[in-house]
Amino acid sequence: MPSPIRRPCSSRRKTWDRKRHRSAHRFNARILNTRMIRILVTIFAGLLGLAFGSFLNVCLSRWPNDESVVQPRSHCRNCARTLSWWENIPLVSWLALRGRCRTCRAPIGWRYPLVELSVGVLWAIPAWRFMNQALDPRLPTALVYYDLANTLCTLLLLWLLVALAVLDAEHLWLPNMLTFPGVALGFAYSVLKFVFLVKVDALTGLPLKSGMENLPFGIWGVVLWTLISILIAGGLILLIRWVYWLIRRKEGIGLGDAKLMALLAAWLGLPGTLVAFAIGVLLGTIAALALLLSPKVSRTAGAWATTKLPLGTFLCIGGIVSALWGQPILAAYLRMEGF
Ligand SMILES: [Zn+2]
Repeated sequence: MPSPIRRPCSSRRKTWDRKRHRSAHRFNARILNTRMIRILVTIFAGLLGLAFGSFLNVCLSRWPNDESVVQPRSHCRNCARTLSWWENIPLVSWLALRGRCRTCRAPIGWRYPLVELSVGVLWAIPAWRFMNQALDPRLPTALVYYDLANTLCTLLLLWLLVALAVLDAEHLWLPNMLTFPGVALGFAYSVLKFVFLVKVDALTGLPLKSGMENLPFGIWGVVLWTLISILIAGGLILLIRWVYWLIRRKEGIGLGDAKLMALLAAWLGLPGTLVAFAIGVLLGTIAALALLLSPKVSRTAGAWATTKLPLGTFLCIGGIVSALWGQPILAAYLRMEGF
């Protein structure tokens, strides 16, 4: 048997090799660790999203009937039997029960697993992004805290938009008890975000992230601009509503949609809201065309023209897309237009 070929090497080279190997190993271990942490935190956020989605389902069933969301405990909407703990596990219970109540066999709607899954997935995305930033050792701590606060606010907005989307889809109802506080929270978010960023700029000495130099009036400029954005976004819907009324002498769009647009503007700013509006209108048009082409509707002549579409639902979906991917969409659009 031939002896294995050995690389002739000095002892110095050997130590150097060993050292390099060890440091590479340590580096790989660190990468592996951060990747593990990132995955674990994302999974945790997703599971938390499932739980909050489950709570949202309770709200969505009870708010329209003006019932308390705390009392009584979760029960079957048909036979009123209180559910045991294992019938309350998000997603799993619905699958295990195959979408039916254990005692009365009444079907449990698709909405339940769908809402749970939506909030779960929608919460995992910002968490995944945040962890990418948070685990970067070059990033100043102040900026990590800023990102954390920003991420938590995004989770709240996403939850709110899922709630409004379902309420409008099921009841054509965008309740004031959600839209008005939503506008106020969004306003506070936009102003505080700016204040935070100015603080972070001062703390880290990084090139201005807040864009302070572009705002001659500082904080009051932000307050004023946010208010104007809210008015423009809400006013856009009021204008369309008015034009529709002039032409058809009928109410086309609900006032709730105007409040929803104001809410989006408060959170996402005017450019982000326009992205949401464009996506919402596009989805609404596709839905209207699908309705027009479906044989059931076209048989009853003129029915499609009076069928009410939940514009709010489409706007909420647009808002969710804009909240998560608004920046790249806007950048791509501006590039396309040659800016
Ligand atoms: Zn039942």
